Formats: sequence, C-alpha cells, structure tokens
Amino acid sequence: MNIRLLFRRSRIRLAVWYTLVMGSILGLSGLGMYRSIVQSNWVALEREIESIAGTLHDSLEPMLPASGDPAGVLQRIFPDLCVVGQACTIHPTLIQRHTTGISDRSIYYIRLFDAQGTLLAFSPNQRFQLSDRFNPISWQTLYGNDGRRYRQFTTILHSAHHPTTESDYSSWGYLQIGRTLTSFDAETRRIQWILASGFVITLSLVVVSSWWLSGLAMQPIYQSYQQQQQFTANAAHELRSPLASLLATVEALLRIPNPDQQSIEIMLPTLERQGRRLSDLIKDLLLLASLEQDASSLKFQPCCLNDLVTDLAEEFLELAIASNINLTSQIPPIEIYTLGHELQLYRLVSNLIANAIQYTPAGGSVIICLESHDRIAKILVKDTGIGIPLDQHRRIFDRFYRVDSDRSRKTGGTGLGLAITQAIAQKHQAYLHVDSRIGQGSIFTVEMNVINYH
Ligand code: ADP
Repeated sequence: MNIRLLFRRSRIRLAVWYTLVMGSILGLSGLGMYRSIVQSNWVALEREIESIAGTLHDSLEPMLPASGDPAGVLQRIFPDLCVVGQACTIHPTLIQRHTTGISDRSIYYIRLFDAQGTLLAFSPNQRFQLSDRFNPISWQTLYGNDGRRYRQFTTILHSAHHPTTESDYSSWGYLQIGRTLTSFDAETRRIQWILASGFVITLSLVVVSSWWLSGLAMQPIYQSYQQQQQFTANAAHELRSPLASLLATVEALLRIPNPDQQSIEIMLPTLERQGRRLSDLIKDLLLLASLEQDASSLKFQPCCLNDLVTDLAEEFLELAIASNINLTSQIPPIEIYTLGHELQLYRLVSNLIANAIQYTPAGGSVIICLESHDRIAKILVKDTGIGIPLDQHRRIFDRFYRVDSDRSRKTGGTGLGLAITQAIAQKHQAYLHVDSRIGQGSIFTVEMNVINYH
C-alpha cells in the first residue's frame, strides 16, 4: 500500500478520534452546565412564587370568616378579585401590592377555592386561560388554553377564628398562586441557543486543532519510518558492494579452467578481505540492533577508566606505528571509576581511537587523555588529522554517514563506528561531543559520571 496514503489515513483516523473524544467531553460539560443553569432558574422561580404565596397567605388568614357565604367577605377583603357569579371589574392591584420588586407583575395570577374545591374568586388576568377544576397538589405545571405553561403553588387557608370543631380547624379553603413560564421558557431557549451555537463553534475549532495535533503526533512516526527506510536502503547498499566483489572474484576463479596455485593465492586474500568486511558489517549491524533494545537486562559494573585507556593505548600502538603516527596517552595517578558495561565502554573508546588513527595522515599524532573534574570523568581523543567540516559535526553520528565516502570506504570503515559509539554513550548516560576544524585535527570527548570504588 502507498505509504503516504497509509500515514494520511492514520492521521485522519487520529483526528476523528480526537474530535470524538473532545466533542463528547465538550458535549457532556455543556449539557451539565445547561442542566445546572435551568435548574437554578427553576428553583429561583419556585422560591419567588412560594414567597408571594406566603405573604398573601399571612395577610389573608386573619381576615377570613369562620363560616357562612364568603362572597360578601371576599369582596371586602379582595376588592381586586373577581368573585364567581358576580360581575368582574378589572383592577388588578392586589398582586401588585404583594409583589413589590418583581419585574413583571402581570405574569402572576391568584385563585381562591373553598374547602370543597369550588372556585370562589380569581384574579381577572387569568380567568379564561385555566380550568376551574381544583387540584390540591402543591406544585403543578399547567397548560393554559392559550398554549402557555404555568407553574402553580397551592396552599391551605385556615380561618383565624378559634376552631370549635375539627373541620373548622382543618381548612377554610385554598389559595393558589401561579405564574406563566413564558419568560422562563424563553430564557431556557436562549440558553439552549447560546450553548448549541457555542458547541458548534468550539467543535469546529476542535476539528481544526485535532487535524493539527494528529499531524504533530504523526510527524515523529513518519520521520522514524523514513529513517528506518533509509537505514534499510543503506544497509542493503553496504552489503551489496562487498558481496558483489566477492561473487565476481569467485566467478573469475571458476572461469579459469585449471586454476594454478598462483592464481588461487592471488584471489584468496581478496575473497578473505571481502568476506571479513561483510562479517564486520553484519556484526556492527547486530551490535547496533542490540544497543537499541531495552537496556534493563544489562548489568553495569564499576569500570576503571585508567585501565581502559592504558589497555587501548597499548592495543593500538602497533597500528599507530604501522601508520607512522605518534600515539600517546595521559593518565592521572588517581584511579577513576565509572559504572558501565566494560566491553561496550572499550568499544566506545576504541572506535574513537581507530578513527583518530584512520583519519590522521602519516607523521601526525594522536593523544588519549583521561581527566576528572567535579565527579565527571573525561576521555579526550585528540588527533592532528584531516578534521571534520563544521556543518557535518551532527551528521557524522548518523548510521552509514561518511564525510568523504570514497576515502572512508577505502580505509575499510563501515560508516557505523560513530553511530555505535553514540548508542553506547547514550546507554551509559554519557555525553559525547566533537570539536573539529577541517585541516586542524579533531577532539572527541566522552563525559561520564565518576563513582567511588576501591
Ligand atoms: P567510518 O567507518 O567511515 O569511519 P564512522 O561512523 O566511524 O564511520 O565515522 C563517520 C565519519 O566521520 C567518517 O567517515 C569520517 O569522515 C568522519 N570522522 C570520524 N572520526 C574522524 C576523525 N577523527 N577525523 C576526521 N574525520 C573523522
């Protein structure tokens, strides 16, 4: 499958998931906010009705007659109410008197029922919109025939006269206070609209940011994939050259009908050289792969850096003499220890020394210094060789990267030496850096933590 298409699909899938998750979180929080706003509005509305009902109830009860036809009394008490069976004059001031401070007083209505639930009086502004049938439930939501919703509170009225019988005491009648829910419903719709449009706008921003974020998330994967591809291509290329040369030598040998001892002796070293190069390359690749695996299985031990530098200086002396290079080492009298994997640390420093000798012309010098400051051990490999251009300092640690491919290949380098060195340094939490100028030589420095060990 086209790899670009695969990455694009993964990015889309990631963006969709981001959007879904963020959208759900936003939706749920919006819903929660909506519920709490509506609920608090509702509670405030009921409290308002209850407080008006309480005020009216307290004002009315002392004036209620104990028994008899209440019509005359009611008219005296409530001149603004319409009494059932009598002509209704509309001067709705009663509610207004008791609802000082409420913004729109015309939205309230009042109804009075006797103990049997017969309508006695009502405020004129709601007379034709609600059924006259009595329902004693405290809180009700009613639907008027004008299509509006009403919230209504019913409270019992007792006569102020001292009760003579049980029924006298129980109830005189009922007072109902209600208000339209028009403004409440309008406010609820307004909140719904604000939240819905806010959700749509936020969701669009989430879609855009999800796309951007998924792009960011895919970037390292894409880069790592490309590096892997590059590495495979480079490895195949590096393996192909010695293999092709090896096969060519074998074919040439086979083409000779009766190869004499001399031809065999000429060709065998070439075969051996190519075979060794292949084997070195495969060993380096395997080592790199193992270094990139989890380090938890590796056991670090105290390593004496003085011994390490002395051993390697001795080991490379022969090669240095053969290349006409003056190899020296500077080691302090105090022993310096670090925690690490001894073989890997030997490989790390030996790669640097091998490179220093390899890239220093005859007559030059290589110095290996070991020093320690503030519990940090430093191994410096200095040479007076060809040097490295400044813009290549970072790239030389890439796998198979060579500053001068032809020269490096001719000297037998695989291009993996510094990549291995860096991988080992990273595993040991060591700091590796290079200071080099073209034509002025190079200094490779490894910094490691010192431990106390005797
Ligand atoms: P190679 O096997 O080619 O030596 P390395 O990874 O060890 O591969 O080094 C990468 C490149 O860095 C080399 O090809 C060489 O160009 C450059 N290099 C490394 N060490 C030195 C040095 N001491 N002096 C000059 N160039 C160096």
